[in-house]
Amino acid sequence: MDANRVKLKVTNLSKRYLEPPVQALKDINFEVSDGDFLCIIGPSGCGKSTTLRLIAGFEEPTEGTVLLDGKRVREPGPDRAMVFQDLNQLFPWKTTLKNVLYPLKVNRLYSNSQNRMEVAKKHLRMVGLDENFDAAFPHQLSGGMKQRVAIARALALDPKVLLMDEPFGSIDAQTRTGLQVELLKIWEETQKTILFVTHNIEEAMLLGTRILVLGTNPGRVLQVFDNPLPQPRVATDPNFGKFWETLYNLLKQ
Ligand code: ADP
Repeated sequence: MDANRVKLKVTNLSKRYLEPPVQALKDINFEVSDGDFLCIIGPSGCGKSTTLRLIAGFEEPTEGTVLLDGKRVREPGPDRAMVFQDLNQLFPWKTTLKNVLYPLKVNRLYSNSQNRMEVAKKHLRMVGLDENFDAAFPHQLSGGMKQRVAIARALALDPKVLLMDEPFGSIDAQTRTGLQVELLKIWEETQKTILFVTHNIEEAMLLGTRILVLGTNPGRVLQVFDNPLPQPRVATDPNFGKFWETLYNLLKQ
């Protein structure tokens, strides 16, 4: 990997929780290049969410470091925006537009309120929500729409990396497929570096340029794959089944 293009570098990362005592992650090492779409898969409890939280700076590692553009992560910041699985991650008392505007204001981005408004609207349109939804409140939106707003809110920060923790995990299968296609389009358009946690092998294969497989007890890297499937990736590609089997057998161990 070209060292100049390394966006995120995770070195000897370990996390031990004390209550209850769990070695959630042990000696995790990986790099993410600028513009990569890295999917992280692994069985429940292998430390996928912990990995994202450490990168986000929500928690401190027991050992090891996270470097973003060569700078050590020590706390949360708008350069690492997170989208969660939870369909209640929006502020329920704020409209769609104000949900996207709020973090821009708090972080004093884009110099003035008119610019912030333009940026917020641009990102809502990017995720497919037209102006009719600007004044809607979260309770008036479907689950898929709420996740679109959460993605717009994260992208509007223009983060260096977009962290996504099973963002489509609570969405029905059909809506989920649509959201996956749109996320890929947005990734191509914005060329963002994305880390996307899922426990769904197909989802990782459809989205990721690379796939990091974690194993459990303790959480550790089993293998990192370059996705061999050409775009657009379709489940009917005979190579899809082969790659799926490789990942499945690795996860079964
Ligand atoms: P995954 O996202 O892969 O399901 P997690 O990162 O949520 O895994 O959890 C990894 C391990 O760490 C699990 O054993 C989990 O119970 C434990 N864990 C996660 N968060 C905490 C916490 N705040 N306190 C104690 N243990 C935790």
